[in-house]
Amino acid sequence: AKAAGKGCFRFFAPEMHEAARERQLMESDLRVALEKGQLRVVYQPQVDASSEEVTGFEALIRWDHPEHGPVSPAVFIPLAEEIRLIDEIGEWVLRTACAEAANWPPHISVAVNLSPIQFKSPALTSTVRMVLGDTGLPAKRLELEITEGVFLSNDDHVHDMIRALKDIGIKLALDDFGTGYSSLSYLQRVPFDKIKIDRSFVNGASDPESRNAALIRAMVGLASDLKMRTIAEGVETPEELQLVRDLGCPLVQGYIFGKPMPAEEALELAKKGAAT
Ligand code: C2E
Ligand code: CA
Ligand code: CA
Ligand code: CA
Repeated sequence: AKAAGKGCFRFFAPEMHEAARERQLMESDLRVALEKGQLRVVYQPQVDASSEEVTGFEALIRWDHPEHGPVSPAVFIPLAEEIRLIDEIGEWVLRTACAEAANWPPHISVAVNLSPIQFKSPALTSTVRMVLGDTGLPAKRLELEITEGVFLSNDDHVHDMIRALKDIGIKLALDDFGTGYSSLSYLQRVPFDKIKIDRSFVNGASDPESRNAALIRAMVGLASDLKMRTIAEGVETPEELQLVRDLGCPLVQGYIFGKPMPAEEALELAKKGAAT
């Protein structure tokens, strides 16, 4: 803090101004990126743990900034949420992914991430219905991934929307399971089809010292008792794959079977069927 005279203190931190300015630039760049088609969607295979057949793909957004290069969605999605650009970006991802998935063999599904902020828009369900109609993708081949964050606000409204989404016929997945606070009550109340076991449980789980194996086993058992399927995220090594298989987890996603890839490659893989 620097004395600015007359008993008034001005807090001056140049690096803070710099960060704020950068952010502002990124905000306007993100709007331009959406308008000018600088965003892309890549697809990561989801694989049956025993047969190693591809069952679906998760759609993940990418932004190649014309000057700064790739910007991580972990950085720009929160920004898009803050400036409320997420509804438009989310609809664009949904439309792109559904249009792409409509070209895949009919047993292959697509999973699209939804931000909790998108649940604040009453138009969400009609958007999903419209996109399915426009792209011709059957509802049962679309899976929407949500996180516990969805349930932090206005419970009844969120549950109504989830009901309405399920009524369309889409599938619902709980993302990043085990990383939040009170997942268990959501499992009881929300009709999830799938639970995604977070990467933090999977990585290093094959280490005999790790307690993660016990946690994964418990999550798989709980989900299966509730008639939900589990998918292990972030499986990278043969040891991790063997372990989640041994623990009874039916589905796997991770670098071991493929990094997120462009639509053309996903289509090839989908037609080929097996991930290995
Ligand atoms: P997420 O939904 O949990 O997505 C999984 C992330 O893990 C992806 O990162 C994926 O590339 C990465 N991943 C997959 N397999 C492996 C692996 O074996 N090892 C490691 N180390 N990482 C793996 P990505 O694409 O950078 O996305 C980060 C997060 O950004 C996503 O986490 C999601 O929360 C958000 N995101 C991405 N695309 C979208 C989108 O279209 N809409 C929304 N709302 N959020 C998105
Ligand atoms: Ca996800
Ligand atoms: Ca996840
Ligand atoms: Ca995550």
